[in-house]
Amino acid sequence: MSTAAPILLTPGPLTTSARTRQAMMVDWGSWDERFNQLTASVCEQLLGIINGADSHHCVPLQGSGTFAVEAAIGTLVPRDGKVLVLINGAYGKRLAKICEVLGRSFSTFETAEDQPTTAADVERLLRADASVTHVALIHCETSTGILNPLPEIAQVVARHGKHLIVDAMSSFGALAVDAQQVPFDALIAASGKCLEGVPGMGFVFASKEALDNAAGNSHSLAMDLFDQHRYMARTGQWRFTPPTHVVAALHEALLQYHEEGGLPARHQRYADNCQVLLEQMARVGLRSFLPPAIQAPIIVTFHAPKDPRYQFKAFYERVKAKGFILYPGKLTEVETFRVGCIGHVHPADMRAAVAAIAEALREMEVTEI
Ligand SMILES: *Cc1c(COP(=O)(O)O)cnc(C)c1O
Repeated sequence: MSTAAPILLTPGPLTTSARTRQAMMVDWGSWDERFNQLTASVCEQLLGIINGADSHHCVPLQGSGTFAVEAAIGTLVPRDGKVLVLINGAYGKRLAKICEVLGRSFSTFETAEDQPTTAADVERLLRADASVTHVALIHCETSTGILNPLPEIAQVVARHGKHLIVDAMSSFGALAVDAQQVPFDALIAASGKCLEGVPGMGFVFASKEALDNAAGNSHSLAMDLFDQHRYMARTGQWRFTPPTHVVAALHEALLQYHEEGGLPARHQRYADNCQVLLEQMARVGLRSFLPPAIQAPIIVTFHAPKDPRYQFKAFYERVKAKGFILYPGKLTEVETFRVGCIGHVHPADMRAAVAAIAEALREMEVTEI
């Protein structure tokens, strides 16, 4: 097996196609008309994926996904707003941390890492605290792979006349969300996840009404999505140096996304990856942390073997030497590791990955799984 180009089974950066990487071989000028068209085309295609062209703006932002989440909260939550943050993992905790750092008032509701937040929880919480203006939710909590019931929660939030901010970073493009059915003020994702682009830019689908009313909310110049959008709408250009190669790669990745069959096909491939992974790992005796009903086909958390000869670092190195990059666990209570199902990978890759995992465990003489 090649160690030169390992397959990343991580939830971003992830494995990209050669064609997507090839699209980065051109240098673009930020004033170039063709580059502006590339940006406009990317935003238009992204809006199409959520059926949001009529109701939402797509505002791209330089940086990793967290930059876009922070920008969305800073721009869309007024300084006297209050955010109810729904937490069942590390990314939910990060949302709360962002509110804290930005000085936005917030409260948190935390469930166990294997417990989705329910619409009934949100109903009860909103009844109990009328001062909440915004609810913030992680769609697929990547720290375990758990799926939170976004459509049901969105209906409750809308019925209470509150605003919803969704971090859909690891699900966007693979799990369907229709902006005409699921009401939200902001839904946030990034280039380097299920669209299979390279990392380097996030984007926020902001409701036109919410964004138009967001002037002056932001504490930050560079993270102000109102200003970013206004400038881009007027000039066709990014406000500050754009991540040109990232945009070009995302454009190429989107062409492949549509050629593959769009969201249904992308979802199906990831679901197949996930199923093969779970089946093959079960044969090795490795158990998944989440029950199937709440497992998103994005990333799977596995219980680490109990054998004292198991050490994640050594295991990781052995599996890497066989061509696959795994992801450490992110749970505080239980020892786990994670395997991503997303990226330019197919069921045959998942089979080969599990074979590599089994072999690594044999080499380490790990017998007690
Ligand atoms: C990847 C991810 C992010 C963004 O993380 P970055 O490291 O900033 O790219 C945010 N939320 C979720 C749920 C994610 O999976």
